[in-house]
Amino acid sequence: MAIAKPVRFLGALSVVLFFFLIYQYLRPVPTIQPPGTVTGNGDKIENWEQDPLLEPIGEPPEPLWRHTDHDYTPDSVNSARINATLLSLVRNEELQDLIPTMKQLEETWNSKFNYPWTFFNDVPFTDEFKEQTQAVTKAKCSYHVIPKEHWEMPSWVSEELYQESAKILKENDVQYAGLKSYHQMCRWNSGMFYRHPALEATQYYWRVEPKVKFFCHVDYDVFRYMQDHNKTYGFNINLFDSPESIPSLWPETIKFLASHPDYLHKNNAMAWLVDNNRRPDNNIKAHGYSTCHFWSNFEIADMSFWRSQAYEDYFTHLDRTGGFFYERWGDAPVHSIALGLFEDASKIHWYGRQLLGLLRLTNDRFKDIGYNHIPFYNCPNSPKCSGCTPGQFYGGEPWLQREDCRPLWFKYVGMG
Ligand code: GDP
Ligand code: MN
Repeated sequence: MAIAKPVRFLGALSVVLFFFLIYQYLRPVPTIQPPGTVTGNGDKIENWEQDPLLEPIGEPPEPLWRHTDHDYTPDSVNSARINATLLSLVRNEELQDLIPTMKQLEETWNSKFNYPWTFFNDVPFTDEFKEQTQAVTKAKCSYHVIPKEHWEMPSWVSEELYQESAKILKENDVQYAGLKSYHQMCRWNSGMFYRHPALEATQYYWRVEPKVKFFCHVDYDVFRYMQDHNKTYGFNINLFDSPESIPSLWPETIKFLASHPDYLHKNNAMAWLVDNNRRPDNNIKAHGYSTCHFWSNFEIADMSFWRSQAYEDYFTHLDRTGGFFYERWGDAPVHSIALGLFEDASKIHWYGRQLLGLLRLTNDRFKDIGYNHIPFYNCPNSPKCSGCTPGQFYGGEPWLQREDCRPLWFKYVGMG
């Protein structure tokens, strides 16, 4: 019996498509070589850093069905912008350190997308601050004072005990131990910023500090990427912390987990949090925590996580202990521990290199955001970047290399 021509054609087409899809899934994709692997040119990979950080990178592809002609003009009513903001807690005195940072981020990224800037301060911003910051961006800037109840030392923390504790922390060389505002800043960044009324209707933020540098031209909408790929948190530097600043943070976390075992996500990053191989001293001094954390002066994140019941309960538990003042808990380890325990590890994204692509059609393209906050770098190997050395991790003393914790993240969680 003769088969109609169109049917034969469709049959042939689906066979071709079938084999094409099989090919796409089976063909080799660049992967991270584990230590000990001998590469094609005979080099032995000695450590985890060597390979991934030097791999050439580019941009993630837009999914095929999307077009790149989104409307990002500053005041468009039909704007393609995601519900997001650039966010900065900053002092008036830091204006001259902030301006070059803003200019860099505008030039490399935001001038294409015009995301609004939201500035926070514990005292009112000066007119000079407002004028000079607004002058470097077409996007809208807004300026907000932090309510006292979000910033001041909470009533249950004893001033006297704080002063005594600060002396001990100082003896242990904990940086900024005696600077009360630093403790306040860490607490605010840990559990307060996303409660500010100015952010009530905002979902994503990109945290920016004065003095930091951005090295790469980034041509995709990073917030759209977060949303499209269902990411909660993006980081680019992973460091060991000073265990002397957080001796009871992990023990308090364990206590919290004991009473809320259901908050632990089944795809958590516990192994990354408790590693004791690479820096055993840190783990001992922090009583079971590797001290490995996302360096939070750079973070691109979805505030829904901070606003979740799990994080709310965790932060409240920590805050009640007074540890933000009696010790010097940073927002970086607090955020990192919470993400590592309560979030799906696959929703945490490294802005360094990312395999991507619908059907892996474009598996040779990667993404990245080159970054520096003294003294550490994330410096990708890409023609889009300039001003840092590809693969460079620190500026200054060579011992700083020891602080790199990314290899642990790659080992336990991966690079996806
Ligand atoms: P480091 O990166 O840990 O050395 O801390 P920074 O001094 O850079 O502070 C972290 C961020 O908080 C920066 O954006 C500072 O501008 C900001 N910051 C720190 N302390 C204060 C403060 O007392 N008031 C305000 N408004 N901002 C602060
Ligand atoms: Mn800083």
